[in-house]
Amino acid sequence: MTKSIILLSGGLDSVASLALGKEKYNITLALTFDYGQKSAEQEIKACKKICEYYKIRHKIIKLDWLKEITHTALVENTDIPQGIQKTSNAVWVPNRNGLFLNIAASFADGEDFDYILIGANKEEGQTFPDNTQDFIEKINAEFEFSTKKHPKVAAPLINFNKDDIVKQAIEHSAPLDLIWSCYGGAETHCGICESCTRLKNALIANGDTKYLKLIFGHENITD
Ligand SMILES: [Zn+2]
Repeated sequence: MTKSIILLSGGLDSVASLALGKEKYNITLALTFDYGQKSAEQEIKACKKICEYYKIRHKIIKLDWLKEITHTALVENTDIPQGIQKTSNAVWVPNRNGLFLNIAASFADGEDFDYILIGANKEEGQTFPDNTQDFIEKINAEFEFSTKKHPKVAAPLINFNKDDIVKQAIEHSAPLDLIWSCYGGAETHCGICESCTRLKNALIANGDTKYLKLIFGHENITD
């Protein structure tokens, strides 16, 4: 029987991937990475709740050294950019997806998992090259050499932008009230960072009011 791993950050994309892929891929293990990002504590809290909700095993992997070589606003004590950015530099973490997928591939190889799900999508793919179909094909080719089990990476959102992802997440009853999609680490979503802005816009585009209220505490962007 097929069984799969998911890379779970607790944000919209990873939770939507879980909701879409849970049955088809039989996801039984979620990996969450703590590399000292400002939002780590909130992400881990969200991931724990989401794994309880879906009844899957949860493993947190600490990568303290990654913080030391990462000089972006996600980890450093500088302001996180607001609004939608044209460049990814401010939030780039060196080889993040390549690293996370390779760690997941070790789990897959050692514990006989068939697939590794990642929340890579069309919208992020326009900014981040490690969110593209090309990258996924290349890393699958790598696993043909670097593993015995030859796990495959699956990205159920690869053709979707944020509006589509929110639509799919709602249709698949994803528990969006449990997510943490903010780059910051405050008690609640900041509502102004790039990640919050994209989520907010997508909820509004889908005519949602329930999750706008639950996540951001108000029903529309002009509040
Ligand atoms: Zn935010």
